[in-house]
Amino acid sequence: MYINRIGTFRDHPDLYGVSVYFQGCDAEPKCFMCHNPETWHISEKYKRDPEKVLEIIDEKLSRLLTHFKKVSLTLLGGEPLAPHNRGEL
Ligand code: SF4
Repeated sequence: MYINRIGTFRDHPDLYGVSVYFQGCDAEPKCFMCHNPETWHISEKYKRDPEKVLEIIDEKLSRLLTHFKKVSLTLLGGEPLAPHNRGEL
């Protein structure tokens, strides 16, 4: 899978959580006023091992859960469901 970044952000309307920004967008035409045009192109430098991605998500969610009763996991992009990400996602 192709990942731009993974962080603890406030992308959920109510909850703190972990956001996974996938890399590569297959939407044509691109959405008007897309917030993340830097995630459109695909390049091997963004390729990540899915097991490692899971580890990072798990570690960040676990850390947040020591402070909050409920947290979120947000998948965004780029396009998480584009063919180059879909299978491993
Ligand atoms: S990254 Fe998301 S919002 Fe931006 S053009 Fe692609 S599908 Fe649309």
